[in-house]
Amino acid sequence: MADIMQTYQALCDHVREAAMVESIRAVLGWDEQTYMPPQAGDYRAEQITWLAAASHRRRTDPQVGEWLAACEDSELVEDPHGDSATVIRELKRDYQKRSKLPQSLVEEMARATVLGQQAWVQARKDDDFASFSPVLTQIIDLKRQQAEAVGYEESPYDALLDDYEPGETTANVHRVLSSLREDLVPLVAAIAESSTQPQVEILSRSYPVALQKELGEQVSAQIGFDFQRGRLDVTHHPFCSGMGPFDCRITTRYDEHFFPMAFFGILHESGHGIYDQGLRTDLYGLPPGEFISLGIHESQSRMWENQVGRGRAFWQYMFPTLQETFASALTDVTLDQFYFALNEVRPSLIRVEADEVTYNLHIIIRFELEQALIQGDLQVPDLPAAWREKYREFLGIEPPSDADGVLQDIHWGAGLIGYFPTYSLGNLYSAQFFAQATEDLGDLEDMFSRGEFMPLKNWLQEKIHQPGKCYRASELVERITGQPLSHEPLLAYLRAKLEPLYGIG
Ligand code: ZN
Repeated sequence: MADIMQTYQALCDHVREAAMVESIRAVLGWDEQTYMPPQAGDYRAEQITWLAAASHRRRTDPQVGEWLAACEDSELVEDPHGDSATVIRELKRDYQKRSKLPQSLVEEMARATVLGQQAWVQARKDDDFASFSPVLTQIIDLKRQQAEAVGYEESPYDALLDDYEPGETTANVHRVLSSLREDLVPLVAAIAESSTQPQVEILSRSYPVALQKELGEQVSAQIGFDFQRGRLDVTHHPFCSGMGPFDCRITTRYDEHFFPMAFFGILHESGHGIYDQGLRTDLYGLPPGEFISLGIHESQSRMWENQVGRGRAFWQYMFPTLQETFASALTDVTLDQFYFALNEVRPSLIRVEADEVTYNLHIIIRFELEQALIQGDLQVPDLPAAWREKYREFLGIEPPSDADGVLQDIHWGAGLIGYFPTYSLGNLYSAQFFAQATEDLGDLEDMFSRGEFMPLKNWLQEKIHQPGKCYRASELVERITGQPLSHEPLLAYLRAKLEPLYGIG
């Protein structure tokens, strides 16, 4: 017993050092996106590459395999959801996955994705898919090799999805997203045909940036983001980055003439930040102190952004302050007009600008296409045509150019394949958790209308943040809601909100 405890301790110390290296890398990455001077870029890339290699070496050290082998049948794994069993299970998974990838493939992938991102930037600028096609073909080929090296049960896409949503399967995601698509397509069409439409011009009046910033920080703190353990800064591409147990950085961008961008961006990133800050600090760097999956992370940001922030109760509380802050923009606007404008649903070309309904259709299109690419059912040169066909079919629109179509996202050029579905999984988890929170806590809307957000934040912390990786996402959903992941709570939430607004249903 004493021996095994020493071995376990050595394993934990070793891995925590890898996590420390990764947190240093995160500080440098955050600095790169925020305050780094332009000429520092090349050396920063060297620093980051060096740190990435150092943490990878540490995590694939054969000693880790030996320690894990010594621990895996011991009393440490007796309670499968306990801390020590979680440490051993998740580290073993990570160690095996990393060890299966040949060094040559890792290096080729790193090179191809650097080139892929550069080629993507140029191709998008020139609206020239043909110049991007060969690089993407190579990336898809490497991703297929990766899937073969790592192994999978049913579909090679399973192996890629697993990097972002551990334990999730293509078949299950397909089941849920197909059901969602079948119900969303007619809902979007009915909304588009409705004669009742919001006055969205309200949102592009003048909202001075300094006031937006002040308000954003105030709301972020009010829903529970802790500014003693975090910061909010400005970047072109907003993100949330945890860089230690007491340091979480979120970012946003402001547009004086489009209020929702920064406001909902801040709510979104605060949701990610509140999850990060809700993890157990004493287990920082070990799986029970880490987030479960990208889908669960996204469920936390989406909940504060959409279920809370785009809800009527929230604005009942918030609108008087807003009207006072932005008097010249909002004197002639009512709460109902403002609330409707915030919830406009309109099929559009660009994913990152999409509303909370059509957003899922953008994701489903990408999920279906990347799956077909990995399975070999679709060839890269045929991708733009397939893209246009799906946009016609699901959203009733067609991109006039590839720049606003298949070239709009960085993901594929960066080798992020299997990543897109986590966005919609986030929306689905979020609705399912929120329905349960309402059942457990009573009238959340009533609380929000009085500016009370702590009951929900504390519920999320207890049920979702504190367990870390002790459960898989699918287990956590069942444990909290008593049901497997389903598209129904999201659909019910969207219908309940949108049908009265648009006078349909
Ligand atoms: Zn997010």
